[in-house]
Amino acid sequence: MNKISVLGIFVADISFSGNKIPSVGETILGDRYNIGPGGKGCNQAIAISRLGGEVNFISKIGKDDYGQLAINTLNQNNIETSTIIQSPDHQTGVAGIMVENKTGLNAANVITGAPSTLTLDEVNKNIDLIKNSKIFLTQLEIPKEVTLYSLKKAKENKVLTILNPAPASEISKEFYNYIDYFTPNEIEAEFYSGIKITNEKEARKASIKLLNLGLKKVIITLGEKGLFYSDGKEDIFLKATSVKAIDTTGAGDAFNGGLAFALSKNKPIKECLELANKVAGLSTTKLGAGNAMPFFKDI
Ligand code: ADP
Repeated sequence: MNKISVLGIFVADISFSGNKIPSVGETILGDRYNIGPGGKGCNQAIAISRLGGEVNFISKIGKDDYGQLAINTLNQNNIETSTIIQSPDHQTGVAGIMVENKTGLNAANVITGAPSTLTLDEVNKNIDLIKNSKIFLTQLEIPKEVTLYSLKKAKENKVLTILNPAPASEISKEFYNYIDYFTPNEIEAEFYSGIKITNEKEARKASIKLLNLGLKKVIITLGEKGLFYSDGKEDIFLKATSVKAIDTTGAGDAFNGGLAFALSKNKPIKECLELANKVAGLSTTKLGAGNAMPFFKDI
């Protein structure tokens, strides 16, 4: 049984590319826009499916045009939609994203919409899928009580859990008991550890602090610098792959999807990190998030 369950959100990403990310009060003339699937949960599920992994995606959307985009996207990526709650009372989420052409860097404002109303009763409808998975992967874009409950149920059933703690926000200490892999990017890692990270040395320092909080394995992604892993005994630093990045939106999601896929295949940690690093690097060479996830043949 190699099933991976992902709990998280879908949003329609509306992204604007230009020579810079506008500052407050500034208007710029950009050169292209893109509307496509996004939301960390959905992006991660797509990454797993495109790599050939078996994935359940548990989410909530509205009954509107962007909800239809979600269903079409999942169908196109061979992901079951029976685990998606479609609510006529809520909107499907949307993200406004600004992308800088030169670097592919981005800034986003995410309105999660329907999944912000996800309840324990709703997630309970699919809890057996989570309990019977090999890997459970989730983020911090849905209500925290639902995230905590699902992580707890997964762990009680010996499922390997990954929390991508994004976007950065306070979590109670109880969370740490149920997380096997904690995967912040450098900004999130600073939020949770209080240590500013600009290089490998600082990433090591932050990971020690995070491990001291009770986390078991920490992976800090460092954007174009790569990533740092530590479980307290073994440290691994990998440089990012050398690619021409045009849009880094969803790079972290590609990384988490790649990691979950590789872990589901029982690969040693170094190989899992190498694969995830490659998947994430490739995702930056295409515009968009969900649609930029590479296929297994590409890596
Ligand atoms: P997030 O998208 O969550 O902010 P990061 O920016 O840390 O996450 O990126 C996640 C991973 O994506 C990195 O660890 C690296 O593997 C890959 N990546 C990101 N930016 C680049 C880049 N410019 N070139 C190559 N790989 C990249």
